[in-house]
Amino acid sequence: MRSKRQRRHEALRLLLQQVLRSKVLGTRSKLPFQINVTISNAALHDQPGALPARTGSGATVPSALVRQWLCDSAITRFVLSLGNRIIELSHTERTAKPHERRIKLLETGGTCQGAGCYRGHDTGDPLIPHHPDAYARSGTTSVRDTVMVCEGTHHDIHHGKTIRLKDGRLLNANGWVTPPE
Ligand SMILES: [Zn+2]
Ligand SMILES: [Zn+2]
Repeated sequence: MRSKRQRRHEALRLLLQQVLRSKVLGTRSKLPFQINVTISNAALHDQPGALPARTGSGATVPSALVRQWLCDSAITRFVLSLGNRIIELSHTERTAKPHERRIKLLETGGTCQGAGCYRGHDTGDPLIPHHPDAYARSGTTSVRDTVMVCEGTHHDIHHGKTIRLKDGRLLNANGWVTPPE
């Protein structure tokens, strides 16, 4: 039998608001878009047999893509009961504030933090704040734990690759990777 807690977390409905790229990063002027995704907790964590995530229009979405969206979005999170009633709502301002982006910009010189990657301001590529401690686990954003990467590197992180940063740290979709001794 399922516990009450498990049932409560049967499904999350996530309203993702893709936030305008900050003027500080200034390489893109895209209107924000909203996307409505319903995903079970099981699917969010890639448990076998989980039903796929669906958008408001009914299209299925790979869970890796949902996690990628989660990384760079302001999220309104609704927890649904099995009867699809909303039983909990929280809003998280995930993306870095402008002054935090400015700090990261100074740290990175406006270049992707991926080792060997030189995309960034000089090449006209936008940088994306990636959060190694995924929202799904930590529910928080901290400027110290934000990594600025280009779209290509960001995609790689969320699709199974382990990336080395210029400072030598390793990370993948599950967070920081400690190298074997
Ligand atoms: Zn990310
Ligand atoms: Zn890159």
